[in-house]
Amino acid sequence: MTLKVNAILDQRLRPLSDLRISVTDRCNFRCGYCMPRDIFGKGYKFLKQTQLLTFEEIQRLVAIFTEYGVSKIRLTGGEPLLRRDIEKLVQMLAKLEGINDVAMTTNASLLTRERAEQLKEAGLNRLNISLDALDRDIYQQINEINVPLSDVLNGIEYALEAGYSSVKVNMVVQKGVNHTDILPMARHFRNTGVILRFIEFMDVGNHNDWSLDQVFTAAEIVAHINEEFSLEPVEANYHGEVAKRWHYSDGAGEIGIISSISQPFCGGCSRARLSAVGELFTCLFANAGFDLRSLLRAGHDDQVIANRIGQIWRRRDDQYSEVRSSQGGSAPSSSVKRKVEMSYIGG
Ligand code: SAM
Ligand code: SF4
Ligand code: SF4
Repeated sequence: MTLKVNAILDQRLRPLSDLRISVTDRCNFRCGYCMPRDIFGKGYKFLKQTQLLTFEEIQRLVAIFTEYGVSKIRLTGGEPLLRRDIEKLVQMLAKLEGINDVAMTTNASLLTRERAEQLKEAGLNRLNISLDALDRDIYQQINEINVPLSDVLNGIEYALEAGYSSVKVNMVVQKGVNHTDILPMARHFRNTGVILRFIEFMDVGNHNDWSLDQVFTAAEIVAHINEEFSLEPVEANYHGEVAKRWHYSDGAGEIGIISSISQPFCGGCSRARLSAVGELFTCLFANAGFDLRSLLRAGHDDQVIANRIGQIWRRRDDQYSEVRSSQGGSAPSSSVKRKVEMSYIGG
């Protein structure tokens, strides 16, 4: 495909280089910070299968995005392993010209050894696995589900055994909830090859009752780990890398810290998000997305869709976290409207 597209920069001169794709809004967990059970319970209306983009539609959109320089794809959700035949989608995306990295974020509860191998075979390079505690009670309290902790830990083992180029574990740290598990997690994943990443609790969505005093900040995390293990900062791998990297001074590996609250990084944010129904979101905290599915289903050709994507990106001016930070932690006025849910847009 050769489209007539020009290099694309948004209003703050940020390029478009990453695309996160939510493949489902459903999840088998009910983490309180993302899908609290009282909201996402029995009566909650999830998307219907017919509303979801098909794999062919996703592949077609990704091919168009590559023309603008997108080379990295992350599959997420909801829980991406709930989407049937997700391995097939991985394969369809990995073989696209211009795509050099296909990754996934998952809670790993459904990651069997066989599945970890099949996904790797299909072309998945990297896996980020979410795990917020090793203490069973805290794990249970956060995820609000009866999935044994051992299923997630086994998933991490299978990912390591399958030989992915990187396996990261994401821990969302909430003060007073699981910050006591920072050191146990650090001890557990040192010398394993897993990069443990601590994520500041964010005010995503509309239902997690976020407040600044529940955030255990990046500086607090580093100071806490330093009490037991000496850490040294490491250069970023590339411009715009979200996680700040640190090495253990004794060579036991690396950790990352994602400080969206205390040190926001909107200035380097080159990430677009595609919901499971094909809406393009230009920020995690957006109120609405731009419908691309109707263009696909109305039979428009690729150039029309490319032009629309270009128009959306060029107008982009998002900087929610920086505004929040400049206001001392209080939410920007855009959040008076309903924000999109994290489980809908993908993390
Ligand atoms: N279900 C998959 C999982 O949990 O890995 C993928 C989707 S989940 C929405 C993606 C990531 O968003 C997870 O690492 C999760 O911990 C993170 N996340 C969700 N809500 C968050 C919040 N309020 N603050 C910070 N991170 C959050
Ligand atoms: Fe599900 Fe992931 Fe949200 Fe937890 S963070 S409820 S695992 S989508
Ligand atoms: Fe990007 Fe929006 Fe997050 Fe800023 S707040 S880093 S613009 S997703």
